[in-house]
Amino acid sequence: MLHDDILNLQRKKRIGLMGGTFDPIHQGHLVTAEAARSEFSLEKVIFVPSGQPPHKKGLAISSKEARYLMTVLATSGNPYFEVSRLELERPGKSYAIDTVRYFHSQMMEGSELFFITGADAILEIVTWKNVEGLFDWCTFIAATRPGYDLGALREKLLKKLSPHYLQKIIPLEVPAMAISSTDIRERVRNNRTVKYLLPTEVESFIYKNDLYKA
Ligand code: ATP
Ligand code: MG
Repeated sequence: MLHDDILNLQRKKRIGLMGGTFDPIHQGHLVTAEAARSEFSLEKVIFVPSGQPPHKKGLAISSKEARYLMTVLATSGNPYFEVSRLELERPGKSYAIDTVRYFHSQMMEGSELFFITGADAILEIVTWKNVEGLFDWCTFIAATRPGYDLGALREKLLKKLSPHYLQKIIPLEVPAMAISSTDIRERVRNNRTVKYLLPTEVESFIYKNDLYKA
């Protein structure tokens, strides 16, 4: 057996999870997932569109199927990307902690889970119940825009977490951080261009299905 093969067998399988509303999915999500895959040698990144997001209650969000289809369209060109229907099929509200727990329970012994998220979303996550258990199950990859004040993030995190857990939150600079779904929906509503902010397939899907017009 080649030395490289032996190393591969010993290496833990690393899986990335990227949860989101994906209404719509955009280049920020995709650039981040691909950067995380490459920087952290992830075997794959599984996108998990949320069912009923607990924090977006009251806001009108597109149907589960529309968000799922846009996520599939956006990721189909990348052999390392997959889409999970887990949260879409689960009745009731979607909590990311349940998703992490599920994937953790499905992982082979010796595999490692990475949860990819925006740095600001990290601050919400650490206020979840049972958050310390979460750090046993996965490492967080926190996407920041270049130049982001990591010291300030650290301090905010330390108000909610013991220092021990900070090593399980790894920052990753992503140049496409300024793109947001909120801005894209607003642009569509106002007949402004969204070209290049998201994949053309997703853009066509939005126009074909009249999303974000009302
Ligand atoms: P909205 O504007 O509706 O809140 P969003 O653009 O933040 O949408 P979400 O589906 O809420 O998209 O985000 C899913 C995940 O992607 C979250 O962890 C969020 O922090 C992260 N994220 C959002 N925008 C970007 C971006 N431009 N680059 C990297 N990560 C992002
Ligand atoms: Mg958001």
